[in-house]
Amino acid sequence: MEIQYLKGVGTKRAALLKSELGLESIEDLLHFYPTRYIDRSCFVRIADVVPDAAYIQIRARVVRKDQMPKRLSVWVEDDSGRMELVFFKGVKYVAAKLEPGLEFVFFGKPSVFNGVINLVHPEIDPAADDMLSGKMTGIYPSTEKLRNAGVTAKVMNKIMSSALAVGLAGVKENLPDYVLKGKQLVPIHFALRNIHFPDSADALVKAQRRLKFEELFLLQLSLLKAKYIRMRGSNGIVMDKVGADFNACYNALPYSLTGAQKRVIKEIREDFRSGRQMNRLLQGDVGSGKTMVAVLSALMAYGYGYQSCIMAPTEVLAQQHYRNICKYLAPTGVRCALLTGSTKTAERREIHAGLEDGSIGIIVGTHALIEENVVFHNLGYAVIDEQHRFGVDQRARLWSKRSDGFLPHVLVMTATPIPRTLAMTLYGDLDVSVLDEMPPGRTPIITKHCYEDKRNAVFKFMKEQIALGRQIFVVYPLIFESEKMDYKNLEVGFEQIATAFRLEDGYKVAIVHGQQSIQDKDFNMQAFVAGRANIMVATSVIEVGVDVPNATVMVIESAERFGLAQLHQLRGRVGRGSNQSYCLLMTDYKLSKESKRRIELMCATDNGFELAEEDMKLRGPGDLEGTAQSGMPIELNIASLAKDGLILSDARDYAARILERDPMLSNPLNAPLVEALKSGKYNLKDYSVIS
Ligand code: ADP
Ligand code: MG
Repeated sequence: MEIQYLKGVGTKRAALLKSELGLESIEDLLHFYPTRYIDRSCFVRIADVVPDAAYIQIRARVVRKDQMPKRLSVWVEDDSGRMELVFFKGVKYVAAKLEPGLEFVFFGKPSVFNGVINLVHPEIDPAADDMLSGKMTGIYPSTEKLRNAGVTAKVMNKIMSSALAVGLAGVKENLPDYVLKGKQLVPIHFALRNIHFPDSADALVKAQRRLKFEELFLLQLSLLKAKYIRMRGSNGIVMDKVGADFNACYNALPYSLTGAQKRVIKEIREDFRSGRQMNRLLQGDVGSGKTMVAVLSALMAYGYGYQSCIMAPTEVLAQQHYRNICKYLAPTGVRCALLTGSTKTAERREIHAGLEDGSIGIIVGTHALIEENVVFHNLGYAVIDEQHRFGVDQRARLWSKRSDGFLPHVLVMTATPIPRTLAMTLYGDLDVSVLDEMPPGRTPIITKHCYEDKRNAVFKFMKEQIALGRQIFVVYPLIFESEKMDYKNLEVGFEQIATAFRLEDGYKVAIVHGQQSIQDKDFNMQAFVAGRANIMVATSVIEVGVDVPNATVMVIESAERFGLAQLHQLRGRVGRGSNQSYCLLMTDYKLSKESKRRIELMCATDNGFELAEEDMKLRGPGDLEGTAQSGMPIELNIASLAKDGLILSDARDYAARILERDPMLSNPLNAPLVEALKSGKYNLKDYSVIS
């Protein structure tokens, strides 16, 4: 049956439900859940109504009606006080109904107008009619258009009620009996009835738990199943001895590895020996020493006779990696080369030859590495830095670098800390390693929030730091919708800096932004990296990876316009040397509650994982930077990655146990699961799948 035939719907509303909320079928409706519930047996006293509260319900008598030119104002009272109700539409009907002296139940969201709290267009029920009282009522997401078409909260409830009456019997149970019993979950019919019309608070909790578990469980089942299939089918190159070059590099290190680095290298070693292709995500905060892990693991592959490639998203980063890696490799006999878009033809030819004859053991570079004419003698291992900038196609091209059916092992490194629950979902079929320990001797960065009135003090402080021989970043936000304005910000900011830090006084200021030519950008960047410029004024292009140990101050302008993850990334550009570093967050006076919280968090901690967890709580996982760019790979209907971490890990463990016993889900008991996975809802969009 089409939803237009449901009681309370009709063609017009059916079209709106589709266009506004994407609801087309009865089944869609049944799986469209309330976002919150109102206890309709609970009344607020008028004296206790506060502005900006959630929906409230009052029971009050009509005292007076005032018909204004454009609105109807109705004053009502209970024993505690009086308040105003305001109506702009359907005024005649409302005026006729709300006779002074009569008592009604009003339901709405308080707002403030001219300093007075009122309810605009509350829903009205006769006080005697307690059809809803004693029960919790679901409140569904809605839109202006729907409300204007008369689809009020109450109407939505009526629609759901008829949808249940018509459609519930036809809903199949997705979870086998043993899962329901094993996890003490309520059956689907009970869950759907109670998610829409809870019999009690307890029944609602049971319904929510069941539906969240089902969603997360099927998702994890789908991800893990893909992983098992990959592991069974994959031809992993077996590498089972450590060579002399690994040891030479290791023994020459000026420091000892952190516990986390040792652990991760061991994890990689296990993967190399396993006979399965490694697909591992390495998360580590800025400065946690990921490069070292990349180099040592590449040397392991080298010891087994395989070439490695280390890919960076930009030319500058590739160069930086190359310089560092060459240092690490000095005590070894391994030939390393750099291949980027700007490598000169003659050199390029030489490198291509070295890769093909196998004399180059480790190649560092950009996308230029995966071009078709690059042929490897024996590629065994690929390290990809900053995965967000590498597309699926590009990864696929890596696989074509071997023709014997074996796949190179892959390590994807990211400095964007992803909360555990999100990583388990986004990268559910990858193995995740975490560098959760910083190398010793790092001085924590001091982070301070400064309003505009402190600008002179900030400039004075910058001059002091420059006098000490230090360098400074000044970063302006870049938001793509308003590029023109942003460059204006940057230009005005640059002028301000150039005026305060004059060339005549010996200050050199470099500027880097996205509208420069690559040459200009590189020239300015190099001037700063080489220490020729004291200050680098930039847009957030410097976010990723640039390593200037002598830079001790990061000034972030309009810091309120950055997300937490980005602020943290930017801050990571300083604090790389032994000197005390500072991060100054400049903001406007007017800060939203959320911006204020972000700035406070930044000042309170420099632990990227803590910030990432908080970020997710503040913004919801769909908004997380890095994932927002590509869109979430899945859409969750009821579970929240931010809040349901416990259910998620439970669901994941349970899914893993089932797959251990029945990897292909061929046991007839698991037939409902196979059926449920077919819907496609639980397939990840493939951008996060590495092979
Ligand atoms: P990431 O890439 O994770 O941001 P890097 O690999 O660039 O971090 O390392 C940051 C700095 O820490 C580098 O200067 C590196 O030489 C240094 N480093 C790495 N590992 C250690 C260690 N175990 N002890 C001391 N310093 C280390
Ligand atoms: Mg790095």
